[in-house]
Amino acid sequence: MTAAETGIGTAVSTSEERRARNEAIFRQANEAIRRAQDRLRPMLPRVPFICECPDTSCRQLIRLPLDRYEAVRGHAERFIVLPGHEDGATVVDRGEEWCVIEKDGREGEIARQTDPRGEAA
Ligand SMILES: [Zn+2]
Repeated sequence: MTAAETGIGTAVSTSEERRARNEAIFRQANEAIRRAQDRLRPMLPRVPFICECPDTSCRQLIRLPLDRYEAVRGHAERFIVLPGHEDGATVVDRGEEWCVIEKDGREGEIARQTDPRGEAA
């Protein structure tokens, strides 16, 4: 899925916006992975999601139980990343192999606008 296809990532004006939109793209990819899980029987105990950090060259996987992923997706401003990929964001939850970060300011705004589960998306 490219930025053009998602409609995200166009008309980027600041690096902050670019980073926020990169995260949104990874989040959309993870939502597709999440939906695919519903078709698998039995479901995997831990699902390989993509690190949602703003680094577009990062393609590392985070294996998470689905309920953990769902808990993160319940908040439009939250993203799941690998430890060390927090990018200066506020860490709201942390496990051995994952971190949940929360975006504020302009990045939080974009995160809400691009939330695939939100009304604005
Ligand atoms: Zn990463």
